[in-house]
Amino acid sequence: MTRVLLIVASVSLVGLITGCATEKPAPAAKPQVQAAQAQPAGEQKPVIEYVDTPTGRWMVHDENRPAPPVITPGARRAAPSDADILFDGTDLSKWSDTKGGESKWVIREGYMESVKGAGYIQTKAKYASCQLHVEFATPEKVEGTGQGRGNSGVFLQGEYEVQVLDSYENKTYPDGQCAALYGRAVPLVNACRKPGEWQTYDIIFHSAIFKDGKIVRKPTFTILQNGVLVQDHVTLEGGTQWRGAHAISPFQPIPDKGSIQLQDHGNPERYRNIWIRELKD
Ligand code: MG
Repeated sequence: MTRVLLIVASVSLVGLITGCATEKPAPAAKPQVQAAQAQPAGEQKPVIEYVDTPTGRWMVHDENRPAPPVITPGARRAAPSDADILFDGTDLSKWSDTKGGESKWVIREGYMESVKGAGYIQTKAKYASCQLHVEFATPEKVEGTGQGRGNSGVFLQGEYEVQVLDSYENKTYPDGQCAALYGRAVPLVNACRKPGEWQTYDIIFHSAIFKDGKIVRKPTFTILQNGVLVQDHVTLEGGTQWRGAHAISPFQPIPDKGSIQLQDHGNPERYRNIWIRELKD
């Protein structure tokens, strides 16, 4: 089975590189970051990152990078008997806003929907390693382009984003399309359904562990979208936060457990049938 397509390695300060992607072939084994810009002390400009992949060397968030193939997925799943049901379509009692207050997300007919400006919604309980099932639907009424179309996200450990986006015939940078580990890993295929149709994520996550401010275990993701493998035991090599047009974020120390979060990115995203099984590492 295909292993990780993209692994961004630790930042090595080799010097400034600018310009477009090149066609330099990647090493056969583990693709790695080849260079990052050194930042003079006090400068706040984003680091420019390049990654070597099986398709060549690319900048982070490079729209010219080859997108994964588009396929047609099958049917969705129901919860197993030992799952903890986080949202069954009827109430948000297990959820809050990011400050612990009542979320302004709304419940409609069996689903919750994000409200522009309401901010992220998150579980009151915190989790480390887990199996997470989420169903989502991007807006049926298609508006916007690229990252502005049906953008949301599922965050594990309150930190690492599995991108949610309307990536049905909607071009964007592949490391930010639906099912990407944002900025870090392109999905193996584009298994998206049409806007407005319900889709599933089944995420197997092994959490990050930090000690004395340094990471001692990197987080890993295996993800099925609509029953199709889209991330195959991918190890994150840093954070997934937005840091600029072609920049990426380093690891930030976080607690061993964090909330499951759903992102408000200004588009009315729908979620339903969310359940979790905690995993012992
Ligand atoms: Mg997002």
